[in-house]
Amino acid sequence: MDFSFTPEQERFREEVRHFLDRELPQQEVTEDRWLFGFFPQFSRKLGERGWIGLTWPKEYGGQARSYLDRLILTEELLRYGAPVFAHWFGDRQIGPAILAHGTEEQKREFLPQIAKGEISFCVGMSETEAGSDLASLQTKASTEGDWFIINGQKVWTTGAHLAHFCYLVVRTDPSAPKHRGISELIVDMKSPGITARPLVDMTGAHELNEVFFDNVHVPKKMLIGQENRGWYQIASQLDYERSGIERVMSNYPLFVDIINLAKEEGLGKDPLVRYKLAQLGIEFEVGRLFCYRVAWLLSQGIVPNYEAAMAKTFCTEFEQRLANVASQIMGLYGQLMPGSKMGLLKGRVARAYLYSPAYTMQGGTSEILRNIVGIRGLGLPS
Ligand SMILES: Cc1cc2nc3c(=O)[nH]c(=O)nc-3n(C[C@H](O)[C@H](O)[C@H](O)COP(=O)(O)OP(=O)(O)OC[C@H]3O[C@@H](n4cnc5c(N)ncnc54)[C@H](O)[C@@H]3O)c2cc1C
Repeated sequence: MDFSFTPEQERFREEVRHFLDRELPQQEVTEDRWLFGFFPQFSRKLGERGWIGLTWPKEYGGQARSYLDRLILTEELLRYGAPVFAHWFGDRQIGPAILAHGTEEQKREFLPQIAKGEISFCVGMSETEAGSDLASLQTKASTEGDWFIINGQKVWTTGAHLAHFCYLVVRTDPSAPKHRGISELIVDMKSPGITARPLVDMTGAHELNEVFFDNVHVPKKMLIGQENRGWYQIASQLDYERSGIERVMSNYPLFVDIINLAKEEGLGKDPLVRYKLAQLGIEFEVGRLFCYRVAWLLSQGIVPNYEAAMAKTFCTEFEQRLANVASQIMGLYGQLMPGSKMGLLKGRVARAYLYSPAYTMQGGTSEILRNIVGIRGLGLPS
């Protein structure tokens, strides 16, 4: 078996690197830019090059390129800490969901706009009483003529205050068993009756929101796929959400800088520091292979399932170990917060450490993912 990249793939990687060397906006913190780096103008530049929706059919604004090309592109964007949040959810999971389940009209309306970097999405799944057990969700959509009327509340909605649209999961049939009465809608975030309130995280950043829906009118043509069959559509969307290489590269720029610091400051002479960094180096490569395996499955027309769960579990726990080792190496300097005038790496270590618990919760917790690996991967009884 030949594991090397083709000359075309190597050329594509070089092309992306040249673009990023030239076009990357200046930023102080380069970690987690797929969640915090909201730069629509940068997304539009990527869109102009055809680098959003890379795998989608050309008729909907895509480039019909391979999943491995997409992985090479996303790997380089994350390696550079590029601010890609404005298009990330649309490119990663909403576009594929519309491609798989949307009407022709929805494909023609939304996919080209996502591919040009013109619109942003948030994902409205979780509620206060429905996280891991998502099928317990209570946000309700009743019908009135050509409209769904939405009432309820979502929580932990990343980027709801910035997004143009929400991919919203609602209960359309309260009398059906809980998995069978759920539908998916695209909701314009400017609709009257929507209120997004900030939830500030431990790092002091506002990325999360709670979102209230008070008699929000949504045209019925915004239903994705079949009414009351939403649950079965969500599963594959979550597989896309879980399996990207961002799960192992959120802190990649910090990892590189810690290694450089260990070289420059002589810390690498300490065997403990050396062992810890070497261990992280090994784990990073393992996580990367998990992500390449998922891209390879997608390129064979297989939507990954337990493979995505394995990738996310291993990779997000790696991110936590990375933040932990970085703060051990930095000692007291590691506690200085971003913006502090003193200190090496300008507070990036403290930020990474404080943010790191989020990785194993967002997109499904490690416990839930281990259940998927056990049941679907190993065939253990549920
Ligand atoms: C930073 C961040 C961003 C997020 N962004 C979004 C977003 O954009 N959109 C969105 O809809 N949601 C988002 N979420 C929500 C996320 O999907 C949920 O937090 C997650 O699914 C867990 O749900 P919960 O928080 O309600 O915890 P719970 O489901 O209440 O779980 C609490 C604990 O119990 C464990 N547990 C629960 N059930 C089981 C079980 N059956 N077996 C074993 N252990 C179990 C869990 O693993 C966890 O440790 C985000 C979360 C975070 C932290």
